[in-house]
Amino acid sequence: MNQTTQSWWFIFYKDQLLLEKKNDGTYAIPYENHSPVTIKENTTVHNVATLEGKSCKAFSLPSPVEESEKYIMTGLRASYDYLPSLHYQTAGKAHEILHWDRNSRFCSACGTPMEQKESIMKRCPKCGREVYPSISTAILVLVKKKDSLLLVHARNFKGTFNSLVAGFLETGETLEECVVREVKEETGLDVKNITYFGNQPWPYPSGLMVGFIADYAGGEIKLQDEELSAGNFYTRDNLPELPGKLSLARKMIDWWIEHPNK
Ligand SMILES: [Zn+2]
Repeated sequence: MNQTTQSWWFIFYKDQLLLEKKNDGTYAIPYENHSPVTIKENTTVHNVATLEGKSCKAFSLPSPVEESEKYIMTGLRASYDYLPSLHYQTAGKAHEILHWDRNSRFCSACGTPMEQKESIMKRCPKCGREVYPSISTAILVLVKKKDSLLLVHARNFKGTFNSLVAGFLETGETLEECVVREVKEETGLDVKNITYFGNQPWPYPSGLMVGFIADYAGGEIKLQDEELSAGNFYTRDNLPELPGKLSLARKMIDWWIEHPNK
């Protein structure tokens, strides 16, 4: 490889991402010939993607980098506020591959140490089993009832905001069946007229969120107490605190706010 070729460097300590401080006060993914941080022995540097025609390298640090005049570490979620969206999305991919690498060191069939064969493939040298990063699929659903929408507060939310009903797809289930089941389990409500909205990689740690719109079809709100601490229908002029701008849930809620006739 040409040593003078610059690369994007996605360097993580857990979910903390190294960013370079620019002269104008903004932050950016380091773009340099060599890693801005010493790469310790036995560290695998992964080629995770191509960004603006240049390769993206990623590796994990055993300890965080202290803030300096040139660098700062920030949570992956928070990096959304500082980075162009494609850079944030690539950082998410790098984070998912590093997470996968840490959690696929041994063959799940025979226990032999796995060998990295491609950026997203490992093979067991003993039994030949191949593994790829696995993605957990989850649904989000915006439930409409006349001029209001259903918002809930899940106990695992990192904050006091309210958001859409969400849940993981189960084996053997269609996405629409998952929507019906999750709304019923979490709130006791029935829904109908389920339509697709959009989707978003969700690297916390390795997911894909798939968003749907649905109409309220019946039932009284009865919250699943273990998962939710609040849940109600809200009109546009009476909305509670909403999730951050980076999430698909917020994009869906904003879409609903801006389309009062939908
Ligand atoms: Zn094996």
